[in-house]
Amino acid sequence: MTNMKKMTMIPLLASFILGSTLWSGGFTANAAAAATATTSTTAPTSTTTTSDKSENPQTNHLPNIKILATGGTIAGSSSVNTDTTGYKAGALGVETLINAVPEMKSIANVSGEQVVNVGSPDVNNEILLKLAKRTNELLARDDVDGIVITHGTDTLEETAYFLNLVIKSDKPVVVVGSMRPATAISADGPFNLYNAVKVAGASASKGQGVLVLLNDRIGAARYITKTNTTAVDTFKSVEQGYLGAVVGDQVYYYNKSTHKHTTSSVFDISNLTQLPQVDILYEYQNNGRYLYDAAVAAGAKGIVVAGSGNGSLSKTSSEGAEAAGKKGVIIARSSRVGSGVVSPSTKDAASNFVSTDSLNPQKARILLMLALTQTHDVNQIQSFFNEY
Ligand code: ASP
Repeated sequence: MTNMKKMTMIPLLASFILGSTLWSGGFTANAAAAATATTSTTAPTSTTTTSDKSENPQTNHLPNIKILATGGTIAGSSSVNTDTTGYKAGALGVETLINAVPEMKSIANVSGEQVVNVGSPDVNNEILLKLAKRTNELLARDDVDGIVITHGTDTLEETAYFLNLVIKSDKPVVVVGSMRPATAISADGPFNLYNAVKVAGASASKGQGVLVLLNDRIGAARYITKTNTTAVDTFKSVEQGYLGAVVGDQVYYYNKSTHKHTTSSVFDISNLTQLPQVDILYEYQNNGRYLYDAAVAAGAKGIVVAGSGNGSLSKTSSEGAEAAGKKGVIIARSSRVGSGVVSPSTKDAASNFVSTDSLNPQKARILLMLALTQTHDVNQIQSFFNEY
């Protein structure tokens, strides 16, 4: 039986055996069987739980992969197995996720940690810092070969790009989510998780920057974005393409990120406990300048504008943005369009404006926050946008 068929069968078998029509019955049963395990993966044929080499030396040649769980739909649950919209995100723990995919045991020594368990709209700067610090700590260890981070898809690209800028290792870091909750028929989470572990354990993944894995595609954190509200094939790299794919148990790479990341990044969060406030304002017809004034009054040190077209601002927005710029606030011109580069303007620097290259507004916010931890110089910040 192919792995694909096996994965399809697992929920059906679990439902059948437990007399339930839900995946959650299978998860619960597996979790109970593994109740004595302090770490994550429980092989059906072995009582040995996976753990760090230092605590329980592995004699096999498999990579040691740590799964850091943060919640999201991949850990989502509903009482109805056809429910793909009204479920609760971040309902299941990391042990349950790992125990549901015992096949991972044949490709890696997997262990898990729950960092938080939230829907990704609730991932905030505090969580970003906590996750990044823990990832750096783990990657510095000889007994960790790669990290997989489970995450909600709504803001996954922001977390992935943040990590891409602040992780100090060339070991693989793979961010994974799913579009259907764990309880759904044809849940995409288990296979995505399996593939993410495979990618994190592949030597070809080293030095690629932080990766995003969904739907068998490997994306670069810098380029990937969510393009569809509900579809399983939502993550796309619109202009730049994917880096690679997982096909038939093999990891294939075709492209490389040309932007600075991880070990070539200057951004260091090891001593930071907070990040500067950066807000995003959306450009639209008939807008006023009051949102700019409000953002500045609320303490914004930077404002990203989701500009129209090639990062354009209306006259009224420009008034607000220029007034903010005079107070030292950096204005980053991005675009609401969804793809393409916002080209630089010779007028930018004089108004404390920068252009964001091909970064969408939500990723431009991540870079601007980090840039402002280093400098308030508009030209230096423009260089960051050119390079990262
Ligand atoms: N719908 C989201 C997801 O796909 C929920 C979240 O982002 O946490 O994971």
